[in-house]
Amino acid sequence: MSIVVFGFTFGDQIKYPMIQTDKKIVIAIDGYSSSGNSTLAKEIAKMLNYKYIDSGAMYRAATLFALRNKIINPKNHFVDEEKLRNQIHNIEINFKYNPEKNRQEAYLNNENVEDEIREMNVSENVSFISKYGFVREKMVRFQQEMGKKKGIVMDGRDIGTVVFPDAELKIFMNAKAEVRAERRYLELKEKNVQVSFEEILENVKKRDHIDETREESPLKMASDSIELDNSNMNKQEQLDWIIGLVKERIK
Ligand code: C5P
Repeated sequence: MSIVVFGFTFGDQIKYPMIQTDKKIVIAIDGYSSSGNSTLAKEIAKMLNYKYIDSGAMYRAATLFALRNKIINPKNHFVDEEKLRNQIHNIEINFKYNPEKNRQEAYLNNENVEDEIREMNVSENVSFISKYGFVREKMVRFQQEMGKKKGIVMDGRDIGTVVFPDAELKIFMNAKAEVRAERRYLELKEKNVQVSFEEILENVKKRDHIDETREESPLKMASDSIELDNSNMNKQEQLDWIIGLVKERIK
């Protein structure tokens, strides 16, 4: 199988190669919140011309639905479980490519919610919705369907453990909570979202704790996953690291 590599520059001076291959594999990237998994996943998907799916966006969209329909109380995070169970079939999530913004965007019942699901009120409530088995089942089914033909990079918390246990490449990303919160803070500041660093740090730690300790598909590293602690790595270094692994797997 031939692999052709071209070099070019992306966004903020990140250099990454296009890798042309007709081999289709599944790449699962899990990790702690704001550990940079989606940035890396998107870039690898572009390099390989694979589909990229942000599974967190699906849980965020379900949370937005729960907030709008008063299924979760944002003040105390109380979830009306029965109402959520009864309404789950009314939650339809899709992704569509936006060529203008060059990104996949999440749709909730045919409404583009890509920006709204990144807001703090969703971040603060999402772990309280994603912990339910019946919510996860629905999302996982859809995620597996999207990965049937392979040629996909998906990031999340349980992709290597539950969604694609046979993925050809599994990465588990981590970084110090303060580093992750700082990255998220800068991202939101750029979007003019008014939020303090302390609030974000608290949210990051809280979500990690709930994600790690929940009964259903807790966040954990798959035994055959490769760990990347990127606390002291820039994007280029992370890309160089993963490109080596990808090339090995598609040989
Ligand atoms: O990746 P992101 O930070 O956007 O994910 C938001 C939340 O969605 C996580 O904190 C977690 O509660 C949930 N999630 C999950 N399983 C996934 C992806 C995300 O439980 N595969």
